[in-house]
Amino acid sequence: MYLKAVEINGFKSFGDKVYIDFNRGITSIVGPNGSGKSNILDAVLWVLGEQSYKNIRAKESQDVIFSGGKEKKPASKAEVSLIIDNTDRYLDLDNDTVKITRRIHISGENEYLINDTKSRLKEIGTLFLDTGIGKTAYSVIGQGKVERIINSSPKEIKSIIEEAAGIKKLQANKIEAQKNLANIEVNLDKVEFILNETR
Ligand code: ATP
Repeated sequence: MYLKAVEINGFKSFGDKVYIDFNRGITSIVGPNGSGKSNILDAVLWVLGEQSYKNIRAKESQDVIFSGGKEKKPASKAEVSLIIDNTDRYLDLDNDTVKITRRIHISGENEYLINDTKSRLKEIGTLFLDTGIGKTAYSVIGQGKVERIINSSPKEIKSIIEEAAGIKKLQANKIEAQKNLANIEVNLDKVEFILNETR
């Protein structure tokens, strides 16, 4: 699995649709200050479901929509897609290419799509769980993050190691199972109560 391309349209400084191809291995993005290099990283985090606007250097949700430029009107929506090579089936989907899209309208409404089909953010989170990719995963290291990781609390470092070791998914399954079990116990109590009433 690797990130083949990022398609950005109306996100931050990208008023026009751009398609950025990545090859296997290392890619460097170079450009003058303020030309939008970090905005590409923000776009990737945003698709993965980043909910903290501070982490993508914005104040509120609509800030990510292109606000207009020289002779260019502001956009009415922002859309970013990650195009991922999945020929090794690393992601649990039977597709050679997986496209993950996030869209926000000027009204603030967010949409998430997996292979052009509307999905929920939770499904995207589950797809990337334990892959090292994700809004809080270690695959996206922005400016200052190395220092933040070094200065993290032991609990935070443990969480990063757990994600890398691939046990986060199991923990999520455990929490889900515990919730189901708690619901079943409540239902059992209710059944017992009704049985006692009718005896
Ligand atoms: P540096 O090398 O200094 O870190 P950079 O190449 O990483 O710079 P970015 O920080 O990605 O640049 O881009 C900053 C630019 O993006 C600024 O010019 C800012 O005005 C522009 N920008 C951010 N949000 C929007 C928006 N919503 N609409 C239009 N332009 C935006």
